[in-house]
Amino acid sequence: MTEAGLLVVLAGPSGVGKGSVHRRLRALESDIELSVSVTTRAPRPREVDGRDYHFVDGATFEQMVAEGRLLEWAEYAGNRYGTPRREVEEAVAAGRVVLLEIEVQGALQVMERAPQALTVFLVPPSLEELTRRLRDRATEDEATVARRLETAERELAHRGDFDHVVVNDDLETCVDEVRALIADARRRARSDAHGAHG
Ligand code: 5GP
Repeated sequence: MTEAGLLVVLAGPSGVGKGSVHRRLRALESDIELSVSVTTRAPRPREVDGRDYHFVDGATFEQMVAEGRLLEWAEYAGNRYGTPRREVEEAVAAGRVVLLEIEVQGALQVMERAPQALTVFLVPPSLEELTRRLRDRATEDEATVARRLETAERELAHRGDFDHVVVNDDLETCVDEVRALIADARRRARSDAHGAHG
């Protein structure tokens, strides 16, 4: 019997460590895959097209929106980001766990369009720590850091909309918590499927 697929939304302010959490999760759980988003943002050094993002121009993004090819999309710090719908739907239907690492506006859209998704909101131990992490990343100038911090404060106000809030203080502890939430949601999805099929 095929495993029950699951859509997992991992959201949280920029700098909270979503990237480290999903990398560690995928290292530990081989059947978790990350959805590669489409973005109009320019690639950062070391980012690879098709692996980190599908980098597209504004017109291509518009066309994907118009054709309904994005499960969700949002504008963030002057750029647009979206999740390709078909890849995600096919992977979940095939019984895989698909992780969306997205910002809050997009996560709210997924809650409406795919209410069975497991939604997890990562929070930093404090705003001071978030500021430090954003500065350490050092790929952005101060104005960008300031803009991302402002957005982070707005995003943190939405934590109550998510199924679970997990603090990313110690990475291993945080990853363990998220793994347990995923395992639990898969168990429930499996027993629902069994129920539905008798
Ligand atoms: P960055 O520019 O740092 O890669 O990403 C900026 C923000 O956009 C992060 O919070 C990231 O999670 C979010 N993001 C990345 N891909 C998507 C997407 O497909 N949809 C939405 N809504 N947000 C995304």
